[in-house]
Amino acid sequence: MGQADEQNFYYASTPRPPLQAPLAGEHRCDVCIVGGGISGLSAGLHLAERGLRVVLLEAKHLGYGGSGRSGGQSIFGYACEMSTLEKAVGEADARRMWDISIEGMRLQRELIARHSIDCDYTPGHMIVGLKARHDRALREELEHLAHRYDYHSLRLIGRDELRTLVASERYTSALFDSNGGHLHPYRYTLGLGRAAAAAGVQIFENSWVTRLDVAQHATADNLVHTAQGTVRAPHLLIAGGALLGRLVPQLQRKLIDIGTYIAVTQPLGEERARSLISNDAAVADMNWILDYFRRTPDHRLLFGGRVSYSGIDPFDSGRVLRRRMAAVFPQLTEARVEYAWGGFLDITMNRAPHFGRLAPNAYFVQGLSGHGMVISGIAGKLVSEVIGGTAERFDMYAKIPHRDFPGGTYFRRPALVLAMLWFRILDLL
Ligand SMILES: Cc1cc2nc3c(=O)[nH]c(=O)nc-3n(C[C@H](O)[C@H](O)[C@H](O)COP(=O)(O)OP(=O)(O)OC[C@H]3O[C@@H](n4cnc5c(N)ncnc54)[C@H](O)[C@@H]3O)c2cc1C
Repeated sequence: MGQADEQNFYYASTPRPPLQAPLAGEHRCDVCIVGGGISGLSAGLHLAERGLRVVLLEAKHLGYGGSGRSGGQSIFGYACEMSTLEKAVGEADARRMWDISIEGMRLQRELIARHSIDCDYTPGHMIVGLKARHDRALREELEHLAHRYDYHSLRLIGRDELRTLVASERYTSALFDSNGGHLHPYRYTLGLGRAAAAAGVQIFENSWVTRLDVAQHATADNLVHTAQGTVRAPHLLIAGGALLGRLVPQLQRKLIDIGTYIAVTQPLGEERARSLISNDAAVADMNWILDYFRRTPDHRLLFGGRVSYSGIDPFDSGRVLRRRMAAVFPQLTEARVEYAWGGFLDITMNRAPHFGRLAPNAYFVQGLSGHGMVISGIAGKLVSEVIGGTAERFDMYAKIPHRDFPGGTYFRRPALVLAMLWFRILDLL
């Protein structure tokens, strides 16, 4: 699938900083980080603040992965239901994981404020239902999160009020979260990059890591290789997300990389844009193959949806998304789509995050399953804690069991295409 970078609204609406030079020659540091998305940069920033020497290697440029192309929606919890985590690790650890996700929401706002990151953070998030089954599920979610997790920023919104907030006939109820929000993900990522560099992190771009020699003992160094250089470090963090590919086969087996797409309309004018989502919240629907959308500060509609499990993009994503957008907002049928791009999600089988260690001092963070705007930032902080000597919170995630995707390299896509058909059927029920 092409990621259509030249049509990425975020890249087009952000002055690109000059690229950092690629890694060349031999380097030595305390921690080497693979991946310049929010996970890697947050880890780098928090580690440098603890006084550690950090080298971060990014294959292309900061924000080349999901962090620079996402819907920008900041949402509580994880991609999986909390009940999945309760079953996997027990209620007490699930509660700690929930608290970490909420801490992640606070951390995101603190990082934006502390480092003066100009990324249009806007409060308000709504999950919208499309049928009676969804309405019941949203009510149960509200009660479950209030009673078991003491989360009280949610409000259930009925059909009539929802019509005054989202100008669409499609939705039957919503769960509004005043603690959620949305932001310009690429500017947030670059802001973290600036903060990390200012704290002393050495960032190298165009530095594709081609080989890792992971130290099997805590006293040995990890060796990280790019085409022109090597980094030697006692600690290693792998935070390559969906783009890590085959670098670490045992990590790749836990993920399927799914293509997903976003389109952005022409500027609609302030009044028209406001009329679509009057409370300026980010909106995501409850389908498995979901639509999600929000306004931009320059009064466009940013609309995401549709997935490709085949690994290739057989369609004109702008055209397809325009059709989906018109199904939600028929009043936009005539609006021009000015930007449309794609990206990959790193989905785990149970959609729970996959964090852990390959060896005593080699950590990984992946599998955020399309729900990583908040969790990536706090995951980076957890990595800084474990390297700083407090392993408890990071290691708790290693208790979540993760299965390999069946079918090996060649047969798992056909298996996934069948699974997709199943999810489409579920959405119709
Ligand atoms: C289209 C789209 C929409 C999304 N919408 C939302 C949303 O609205 N809300 C939400 O919560 N989440 C969303 N997500 C998910 C979210 O963007 C990710 O979970 C999050 O950005 C992951 O951050 P990360 O730092 O872990 O990985 P990434 O941002 O993917 O960063 C990983 C980086 O590692 C680099 N890398 C990989 N391999 C190597 C290597 N061998 N050597 C060097 N560098 C390497 C990559 O180039 C990349 O820059 C969306 C994702 C996509 C693609």
